[in-house]
Parts: sequence; C-alpha cells; structure tokens
Amino acid sequence: MAEIKLHLQNLYSNLSILAKKAGGKEKIIAVLKDNAYGHGLDIFARKTADFGIIHAITRDAKEALEIAPFFADIIVLSEHKENFFTHPNIIFAINEFSALKSVPRGAKIALKIDSGMHRNGLNPEEFDAALSAIKQSGVILHSVFTHYRAADEIGSCFFWQRENWRAVKERIIELAKKYGINKPFFHSCNSAALLRCGEFDEDFARVGIAMYGYCDLPEAFGHFDLKPVLELFAKRISTRELKKGWRVGYGGVYEADKNMVSSLYDVGYSDGILRYNGQGELKTTNGSLILGRVSMDSMSINSSEEKISIFNDARVWAKHFDTISYDVLVKLNAKIPRFFV
Ligand SMILES: *Cc1c(COP(=O)(O)O)cnc(C)c1O
Repeated sequence: MAEIKLHLQNLYSNLSILAKKAGGKEKIIAVLKDNAYGHGLDIFARKTADFGIIHAITRDAKEALEIAPFFADIIVLSEHKENFFTHPNIIFAINEFSALKSVPRGAKIALKIDSGMHRNGLNPEEFDAALSAIKQSGVILHSVFTHYRAADEIGSCFFWQRENWRAVKERIIELAKKYGINKPFFHSCNSAALLRCGEFDEDFARVGIAMYGYCDLPEAFGHFDLKPVLELFAKRISTRELKKGWRVGYGGVYEADKNMVSSLYDVGYSDGILRYNGQGELKTTNGSLILGRVSMDSMSINSSEEKISIFNDARVWAKHFDTISYDVLVKLNAKIPRFFV
C-alpha cells in the first residue's frame, strides 16, 4: 500500500514561524478538521500538542473527542445542534441564532459572526437577543469569531471586512457588559489573514494550511518560508519494458516515444489522489513521468525504483488540476499508513 511520511522538522519550523507571528504558541489554534487536512488526526494532534500548541479545531464532535486529551480546548466548527453536549474542553460553534436553543446548560460555545462572507453566522441585529439568551440559559461563551472571504486576495475586500469585524467586537463587548457575561475571546484570522496582517492583536489565530506548509498569498504580501509536511509514497508492484510505440493503460493515452521502462505503483484514485487522465505532463517528486491514466489502485510511472515519492508538494497536483493544495491533501484516504520522520 501507499504510505505517507510526515516531516516533523517541517511541521515544527512552520509552527515556529506562525507562533512568532501570532505572539506565542498559546495564540495558535491548530485547525485539525477533516483528518488534519488529510495528514492523520491522531498522530498530527499528538505532535502539535508536543510542540506546545494548546488549542485545536475539528469539524465534528467525534474528531474532537478523539483528541480531547491532548488540548486545553477544542472548537467544533460544524456539528449539528442535536449533537451538542457539555464537556470540560469541547466548545461548539454556533452558526445560526436558532442553534442557541439547543445548547445544554453549562456547555461551552463559540459564537460565529457573519462579518461579510454570508456563509453562516449571526447578524448584528441578532447580537442583543443572543447575548441575553446566553446569559439566561447558563451557557458559557468562550469566544466570538468570524471568517474572512478574501484573506488571500489582493484588494479592498479584506479591509472592508476587518472594519465590519472591528465594529462587531465593540458591540459584543458592550453587550457582554450589559448582560454581565465575561468578556469572550475574539478570533478572526486563518493562515493567510495571520500572515498578511501587520501587528497581530487578537486572542487567537486559527491556523490550518500554513501549519501543513502552504500559503498561496500573492508575492506582494512577502515570502514565508513554510515547508510542506506531507509526502506521499507508492511501492512498486511490477516492472516491464515498453517498446517504442506501445501505449499504456486505459485508453492507451500514453504512447512510448522510445523504448523505456515502466513500473506499476500501488497508489490510485481509490487512495484519494485526483484522477490524472493522462492529458498534459504530470511528474513525480524526482521528475519521473506518470504514464497515461491513473487507475483505481495503481499507476504506471517511468521508473524502476522500489519506492517512489509521488509528491512532496501538493501544489504540483493542485496546479495540474486547477485546484488548491487543500483539495489535494484532504482527499488522501485515511486508510493510508501515516508516520512522522
Ligand atoms: C478551515 C478553517 C480555518 C483554517 O483556514 P486555513 O486557510 O487553512 O488557515 C480557519 N477558520 C475556519 C472557520 C475554517 O473553517
């Protein structure tokens, strides 16, 4: 089977850069949703905690419970309201006003605010009623947060949304006073927003992709020495000689332009790599050509190495498929063995 090597030095180097920018390890919330962006939830959580990260984010409560022993607190981003529960270090994001009714007394919440992305979150008109309801129901307001729609793009949009967010924070602080609620923490920045903002002045930054070693900010925002953590390997199943003119694999899309070696490797689209259809050139880490269409469980490569690195930089595949590194990473099948080196 394929295997995934996770480069610990790269992870720690990325985390050091991010912690420095945020003003301390305790300001970083490690975003570990969706199997830690395909890196493997459990092992990745342990290593980030070993580094000194104390806050995390997951997508659902199941993921949060799995890593609860490693962190001081974990925010669950998109659990359904029927599944809310009380737990000493699990915090449920509230993505709409009506979800507040479903929070049990004593449970911890993080209130999501719509500051311009219009995907989810409470609107300013709902703030007063929300804080009043929180006070009355004995729910613990851990934090108030928002998400930027264009943190990684040049333009005025980010500044416009930051202004909206500034007003939100002032209003929430006023209302917390009015209802006698402890001042909540505030957080708004993802990786791109943290890296591009001048002075970071919030309680936390929610860092995902940059911790894994990627940031696709335009050059104008500066250079950040992030290093990809994940490297995907495949093992050789068989090797053969291709004669000039032979065609390889489904549809015979690749035609050998000379006699050459071809080996079949044990990774395919069932393992979560995107299905290369043989159009355009796609190469492995060491520059070996992938020959023709990727099959379900295998692919042909112009190589005879026992073990081959398919990629150590997801941007190569992201670029080929006109998508983003997140998309390449997060799809990697959870069954693939993962280990740190
Ligand atoms: C996924 C996510 C993040 C992390 O974003 P990156 O771009 O990977 O840093 C932060 N906040 C929220 C709400 C998210 O859903």
